[in-house]
Amino acid sequence: MIDVVDVKKSYGPIEALRGVSFHIDEGEIVGLLGPNGAGKTTMMKILTGFLQPDEGTVRIAGLDVLMQPRQVQALLGYLPENAPLYPELSVQSYLQMMADLRQIARDQQRACLSEAIYATGLQEHLTRPIGELSKGYRQRVGIAQAILHHPRLLILDEPTLGLDPTQIVEIRRLIRRLAEQSTILFSTHILSEVEALCDRVIILMNGQVRADARLSELAATPDAVVVLSEAAADVEQMLRELPGVRGVEAMRSADGFPAYRVLGKRRGGKDLCPAIYELARQHNWPLRELRRDVRTLEAVFNELATRA
Ligand code: ATP
Repeated sequence: MIDVVDVKKSYGPIEALRGVSFHIDEGEIVGLLGPNGAGKTTMMKILTGFLQPDEGTVRIAGLDVLMQPRQVQALLGYLPENAPLYPELSVQSYLQMMADLRQIARDQQRACLSEAIYATGLQEHLTRPIGELSKGYRQRVGIAQAILHHPRLLILDEPTLGLDPTQIVEIRRLIRRLAEQSTILFSTHILSEVEALCDRVIILMNGQVRADARLSELAATPDAVVVLSEAAADVEQMLRELPGVRGVEAMRSADGFPAYRVLGKRRGGKDLCPAIYELARQHNWPLRELRRDVRTLEAVFNELATRA
């Protein structure tokens, strides 16, 4: 659905994107994550044809964004970071205007409008001027205009920015529903947002892709955690002597049992669990739990940021 190859974009001396490439399949919901100034908005503007890249190519559903902008516009919906809503217009008039701008045929407009209005839960607010709505409801209006024409691809720039926790939950629920029909790429700098909404993340830092993986892959580590129901002799030493182990940390599990973090080799480290299980079986350890250790997305993000 999206193919980005070596995209570069500078604003004068500022290199906002420094050779960005990624691919997104139809039906995926992908989070574009990065700190402030990482280049997320610039990337989204380029994807939607609002900005031209200095170099590189962008294809949406096989169409070149620069060469076939109209066809691309027809199949995508875009919620910009600061959606240009008209405060004096009512929700209904604004969405009607957007349906006209989208050139949705008159005989289909009523159905498209009511679908978008129901999907975003705006039916009680149609006659209210947009300027009087809460930020959460204005965001819904922005999303409603983006989905009016049933786009195959939805690009949402910071869809929950500035919302309160209840509104965030509602917008996330809405995005999940929309994902049943469309491919979704959304940007955020909130890690929990990605964890709540998608299973794949592209991390942009300093105008470059620093990670592009499923969350489960990013979270995976070569380390294992062993929890015993009571202390047993020489466990730490035996774990240390296993092939592929570079260290062992003795600790306590969250519920107070003796535990060990067994550190695997950082590069090409194999799953240590089968060997640990075998050792436990041979020596009759009172094994309570054995699992691969996982990292939080926050830990991954911090590690990438400090490597920058
Ligand atoms: P945020 O999370 O803060 O919105 P972002 O990841 O979306 O950040 P961009 O808005 O794409 O990042 O900005 C990337 C870099 O380009 C930043 O250094 C920003 O200051 C710069 N930049 C963005 N737009 C312009 C512009 N119109 N003129 C000059 N510099 C710009």
